[in-house]
Amino acid sequence: MIVGVLVELSNKNIDKQYFYSVPESLIKDIKVGIRVIVPFGYQKLEGFIVEIKDKNEIEDIDLKEIIKIVDSDIILNNELLKLGKIMQEKTLSTLISCYQAMLPKALKAQKKTSIAKKFDTYYRLGNIPAKLNAPQTKIINLFNNKELVSRKEIISISSSSLKTLESKNILIKEKKEHYRLKYNKTLERKYTLTVEQQKIVDEINKSNDLIYLIHGVTGSGKTEVYMELIEGVLKQDKTAIVLVPEISLTPQMIRRFTEKFGDNIAAIHSALSEGEKYDEWRKIARGEAKIVIGARSALFAPVKNLGLIVIDEEHSDTYKQDDSNPRYDAKEMAIERCKLNSSCKVILGSATPALDSYAKAKKGIYHLLTLSNRVNKRPLPNIEIIDMNEEIKNIKGHFSDKLLSKIKEKIEKHEQVILLLNRRGYSSYISCKNCGYVFKCPNCDITLTYHKYTNNLRCHYCGYAENIVTICPSCRENAISSLGVGTEKIEEELFSLIPDVKIVRMDFDTTTKKGSHEKIIKDFRDHKYDILLGTQIVAKGLDFEDVTLVGVINADTSLNIPDFRSSETTFSLLSQVAGRSGRSRKEGEVVLQTFNKNHYAITHVKKHDYLGFYNDEMIIRRNLKYPPFYYIVYIRVSSKDNNICYKEALKIKKSLEKYLNEAIILGPSAASLFKLNNIYRYGIIIKYKRQDNLIDILNKMIDVYKSNRKVVIDLNFNPGHF
Ligand code: ADP
Ligand code: ZN
Repeated sequence: MIVGVLVELSNKNIDKQYFYSVPESLIKDIKVGIRVIVPFGYQKLEGFIVEIKDKNEIEDIDLKEIIKIVDSDIILNNELLKLGKIMQEKTLSTLISCYQAMLPKALKAQKKTSIAKKFDTYYRLGNIPAKLNAPQTKIINLFNNKELVSRKEIISISSSSLKTLESKNILIKEKKEHYRLKYNKTLERKYTLTVEQQKIVDEINKSNDLIYLIHGVTGSGKTEVYMELIEGVLKQDKTAIVLVPEISLTPQMIRRFTEKFGDNIAAIHSALSEGEKYDEWRKIARGEAKIVIGARSALFAPVKNLGLIVIDEEHSDTYKQDDSNPRYDAKEMAIERCKLNSSCKVILGSATPALDSYAKAKKGIYHLLTLSNRVNKRPLPNIEIIDMNEEIKNIKGHFSDKLLSKIKEKIEKHEQVILLLNRRGYSSYISCKNCGYVFKCPNCDITLTYHKYTNNLRCHYCGYAENIVTICPSCRENAISSLGVGTEKIEEELFSLIPDVKIVRMDFDTTTKKGSHEKIIKDFRDHKYDILLGTQIVAKGLDFEDVTLVGVINADTSLNIPDFRSSETTFSLLSQVAGRSGRSRKEGEVVLQTFNKNHYAITHVKKHDYLGFYNDEMIIRRNLKYPPFYYIVYIRVSSKDNNICYKEALKIKKSLEKYLNEAIILGPSAASLFKLNNIYRYGIIIKYKRQDNLIDILNKMIDVYKSNRKVVIDLNFNPGHF
């Protein structure tokens, strides 16, 4: 027997299967999709068996032998093997990196894994003699109707008796696997769907389409719709995967799902320990959990007979893996996985669909469904815009009079407040503290990024650069500054402005510890705090009954992110965070501070007008040749040597221009993180309408650079952010 093995090294040069012969003693345990250890050059490596061949299919001149089998159960089933290949075609990454990306650490091919299964000790009955003493009898009675009794239970009666019984083979020890996570049904809840919800469920159930987009305003009960659909899927003996955009949302989603489905669920996301992920994975593979809930990578859970994939808050950029290879798009891969199963469906849901998704829905590529009312008939909250150009003279800290007095008013009434400060990217752009003016690229309409290294402002799309000035070109004040404000500072300000205020902060710094998300959310729900202050984490999906005010400290931070999607991101972030207000019995309101009150993203948010925003934004995208009218590939060239890096990037650009006739090619330009760990990085952007020969050309480029030791090339198709 001969097997093809894909080894763990992710290197373009060795990204193919190598053949090994199987020693007689191992043949009976060989399966496609398990890990084995093989000799490779001078090393021993782990790899996956991807193919089994007959001896005479291959000219076996001196094949080396497999050393050892790692798994008894299959890790990469047929479906995952196929999906990995598709991912490889879509990302042009190595095949092994695609497989590795689908698996929890404990199951990746790698030489050492210290993640072990956990076991509990149980006992079963052996031969029971006629004579037993009192505690022994008591122990034996525990087995009344039960085959196994846990060690814990037995030693609670007597541990010395246990020893005796065990030594006489009256009790026989047995180890049983135990999963680290448990899902406890706290209360049972069942809603009758509203007419609007039921209509959508029915329409999806009777349709044969593959992909659905549910555009439902915040609080319209999308989650309830997902659960109803999943109930139907389970009845057909199928399984479901539910993706949420951030780990902060998994606790809430899991809570709601356990209320309906008990422990028929498993979770996969980065807040779990590797041991927990390993357990959840096995539970799923064994069919002990039919619903998987988690972040991006949960898409690759080893469920069988998949019937439904839900992608909640589908507009979120976290569904695109941007930061490491393979740079895959979970939405795209969900559709591919769906196609590998018979009559499987993909549901995308959002109050603010990604422009790209909505465009596809309008074209009929996705089946569009709309929920236009909140479940409890509550109106969407009133949004008040505070013009900071006017207010700047009399703000306290970063608070306008209006926002501050509203906060105080709500706290007095024992209602709750969410405050958003989107900090992302604040330190990398420069603005006027007086009027909010921001420097933009004249070619690309993108905020210029401040580069400390060269002390100038640059566009990281086209490479345009300009020098720093201190006088604002707009208001003529000497107030240009790169300083942004962080959540910590805002927290400090609030403590001094409102004595005895109870604030909990939710941002990157306060949520690194395991379980901290859950704790913050639970404590806030239990009214231990008046104010939840945080970065964009607080904007999405959270459902608190008593929040009646949402305040946005500075709506402009996200408008100024150097990304062509900054308006879209802002519109959706602000709509989402506004949607946290007044979700239950009490009416909610929103106060939004900005220097750009006339910006179309802001004016449409005020009117809760997704379609209005969509139409305006599509015109701009068309004019500037951005997605969804053009696709984008971002090529990152990096090297330890700045000169070589730029020269090679330029060379790549020139040859791309030569071979890609229809495409627009920008750059090379300094990447937004230009120098990182002493590595310099340049980017080239390809905008294209049709792929034509693009993939061929890119593959050739990868080929040329795969053994170049000085520069490294990374590809990112349709980046979620830059
Ligand atoms: P969305 O995800 O669209 O923002 P949710 O699914 O979180 O909305 O629903 C908003 C709130 O309404 C939740 O508290 C949910 O429990 C409740 N809800 C949803 N559907 C119903 C229903 N049919 N009857 C009563 N309450 C519902
Ligand atoms: Zn530019």
